[in-house]
Amino acid sequence: MKIIRAGATDSATGNPEYFTGKVRLDPVIASELTGRVSAASVTFEPGARTAWHTHPAGQTLIVTAGVGRVQRDGGPVEEIRPGDVIWFEPGERHWHGAGPTTGMTHLAIHEVVDGSAVTWLEPVSDTDYAG
Ligand code: MN
Repeated sequence: MKIIRAGATDSATGNPEYFTGKVRLDPVIASELTGRVSAASVTFEPGARTAWHTHPAGQTLIVTAGVGRVQRDGGPVEEIRPGDVIWFEPGERHWHGAGPTTGMTHLAIHEVVDGSAVTWLEPVSDTDYAG
């Protein structure tokens, strides 16, 4: 057993190569401990979002605060709210982020495959973000 105390892990800032706007990442589950599962609480300031990306083993998002947006390739931009659970299939192209005037926090849970949990693609344009 290992208890990771609140405040023991520093927050990180979203890499601007992979995120638009201001994003904070707080680790929740380290794949170094589990071998596969990894999770983080991710907080997006208004207008902030991920780049387009995929996950090799899929991803679950659980919205914990605020109002945000999500889109899978070819689908509409959809509003997401606290309590919503979003599942992306392995390899499904998508993005997630805050609303234009509202921040959003979600838990992101995914598996590491061959050392990687995500493949980053191009940034989400303002046009795509606006839907
Ligand atoms: Mn994702």
